[in-house]
Amino acid sequence: MSTKNVTTDELSGKLTGLLGKEIAAASDREVYDALLHLSQGLAEQRQSDAGKKKLYYISAEFLIGKLLSNNLINLGIYKQAAELLEANGKHMGDIEEIENEPSLGNGGLGRLAACFLDSIATLNLNGDGVGLNYHFGLFRQYFEKNAQAVRPDVWLSDDSWLIRSDRHYDVTMGGKTYTSTMYDILVTGYEGRTNRLHLFDLDSVDESIVTEGIAFDKKAVDKNLTLFLYPDDSDDDGRKLRIYQQYFMVSNAAHLILDEAVAKGCKLTDLDEYAVIQINDTHPSMVIPELIRQLMERGLDLDTAIEVTAKCCAYTNHTILAEALEKWPISYLKEIVPQLCPIIEILDDRIRRRLPGETADKVAIIDAEDRVHMAHMDIHYGISVNGVAALHTEILKNSELNDFYKLYPEKFNNKTNGITFRRWLLSCNPELSEYLIGKIGDSFLKDASKLADFKPLLEDEQVLRDLLAIKQTKKEQFTAWLKAEQGIDIDPNSIFDVQSKRLHEYKRQQLNLLWAIHAYQAIKNGYRPARKITILFGAKAAPAYVIAQDIIHAILCLQEIIANDLDVNPYLQVVMIENYNVTAAEKLIPACDLSEQISLASKEASGTGNMKFMLNGAVTLGTEDGANVEIHELVGDENIYVFGQSADEVIKAYEDKSYVSKKWYDQNTFIHDAVDFLISDAMVKVGDEARLKRLYKELLNKDWFMTFPDFDSYLMAREKAYDDYEDRLSWAKKCGVNIAMAGYFSSDRTIAQYNEDIWHLEG
Ligand SMILES: *Cc1c(COP(=O)(O)O)cnc(C)c1O
Repeated sequence: MSTKNVTTDELSGKLTGLLGKEIAAASDREVYDALLHLSQGLAEQRQSDAGKKKLYYISAEFLIGKLLSNNLINLGIYKQAAELLEANGKHMGDIEEIENEPSLGNGGLGRLAACFLDSIATLNLNGDGVGLNYHFGLFRQYFEKNAQAVRPDVWLSDDSWLIRSDRHYDVTMGGKTYTSTMYDILVTGYEGRTNRLHLFDLDSVDESIVTEGIAFDKKAVDKNLTLFLYPDDSDDDGRKLRIYQQYFMVSNAAHLILDEAVAKGCKLTDLDEYAVIQINDTHPSMVIPELIRQLMERGLDLDTAIEVTAKCCAYTNHTILAEALEKWPISYLKEIVPQLCPIIEILDDRIRRRLPGETADKVAIIDAEDRVHMAHMDIHYGISVNGVAALHTEILKNSELNDFYKLYPEKFNNKTNGITFRRWLLSCNPELSEYLIGKIGDSFLKDASKLADFKPLLEDEQVLRDLLAIKQTKKEQFTAWLKAEQGIDIDPNSIFDVQSKRLHEYKRQQLNLLWAIHAYQAIKNGYRPARKITILFGAKAAPAYVIAQDIIHAILCLQEIIANDLDVNPYLQVVMIENYNVTAAEKLIPACDLSEQISLASKEASGTGNMKFMLNGAVTLGTEDGANVEIHELVGDENIYVFGQSADEVIKAYEDKSYVSKKWYDQNTFIHDAVDFLISDAMVKVGDEARLKRLYKELLNKDWFMTFPDFDSYLMAREKAYDDYEDRLSWAKKCGVNIAMAGYFSSDRTIAQYNEDIWHLEG
């Protein structure tokens, strides 16, 4: 069956065949199963041998989201399938509910990898993802007693998209040999080919060893290896488990890459004609020494193995937070992967011999404290180093990685992140997609720059009214969803002001929290906003990240105080969404009015949430950071609210250590009052005094991410945005401009650039 222009009748025949009964007589789960198998069958038909060279995108995370709707869309049968269900008394929405969201990722990095897989297949490029098959993901978040509680995020079931393959490899770690199993998820592009996401696992993993919350025996590697993504690394055993995971991932990847290349007739010395490896952040960095080791096992000499490997690998940097660039003690590596240590020592030694002593010390792989700098290995022994937004790449070149840039200017390049429009427009906002298609045709689905054709139409008042109506629909849908999920009522006629992303101090949810406290105090003092404001947060905090959990705790306490305060709750509401994941994001983002992108300038590498909000007609309130800078350039001053210190100012303040938070607290009564509220009787009554005090002290004595200097300008920018919101037509125009200019942020554009500059795959 060709999936182009497949008729509803053909689909009906297929589906009843799979079900063995009429659709109307089947349960939702049976229909889900049948659609899953139908999609897999169609996807398999789109596999292709085209392309001698293949990309292997190795990543610790793939935050892929639910797959059913996206796959139906990309296979071109979503509409027919939805109509068919309706005709038989079923609803696609109910069928979608059956699917568990795969817990294979965590935040932006993993979501980026997922968008990239979609775009690689859409551009008909030969490229697979490689990662691990986590059974319980990061964790599932619950709120209990105004605090985050964590439990395993169970997602695997019999009717999942995973296909068990018969590929197995032996991987030796910590003196023991483990046999892997490879699972595949088929990835079909939009009207494009089918690639694969390969996920490695161990059959011996035992889910029953997880006892309380997400606690388990960290030493039982055969049982725990792929239970969780990013196991708690606050102790030695946790850190070692991360090394086990990373090595298991890359050793399997290297076996797969070499087997596939050799099967195609590759001479090992020509590997770079058959394979290119994109190292997504430093978690897969050990692929470099491991590939060298396996090439030698297959007969190459050391020099040639190094040379071949260095031609195949490319590295993406995702952060300039020094503490996030992994450095593993060589003693750990000697215990777990002794086979790599002589190779890493040689790689280090070659750098030291080539460079004068002073430079060598700064860019060495093994430092004076015997730690291995994973990023340094990637930069020396690869063809490319890329940042993920223009500003981020400039900071890498000029400050963070300047010593390396001076050595290898030709390796550095920028690839501004992107998002797939299939999931973040077509699937999550069919109302807006259909409207746009009606107005400007569907060519933007293949060439996102065509979205700009929508801009001239914003002169038409009716178009502006239509945009407002669509936004209202999405807000009402979200309101109903939140009620069903969490039992909380919100007002769809209020302003939806949203900050949803991982909880990290640099992202500054604490700044938004201080604003909310300030607004609460102002309303208590008689101030009346023109319209109710609903502040929506969504964020998980890493279990070992204490201050991040304290911030969640404070937000939840404030949520309770305001909900119970009759003076304030007609004007202000704070809601934290439980277990923020892709499923929640797809509901929340289309409903947003104001998108909070308020990281401390220079600290957010790119962000992709900012792009999703823009595409769905939200206006950004943000700092000049990451891709916000590019959003600002595209939409112009009128259609974004920017505030705060510049990246240069922040970098300088860190250099000269000139920032003292206490001074700001003493001089600014708004800051003073908001910070003091954290430890007020009202907060302590609903919260945990020790936690609240810890957050209070952190802000007062440290405030490492400089919330206070940006507070006043944040206040002004936010006030301005709310004022502007009341001129509904002019606000709708801002939303429209954001939609029209979002084309640049299609991951199809990003992937085309990776391919043009780094991968050189045949399209
Ligand atoms: C896009 C996305 C992110 C990344 O958001 P940022 O604002 O770029 O940090 C995190 N989590 C989910 C579920 C997402 O969809």
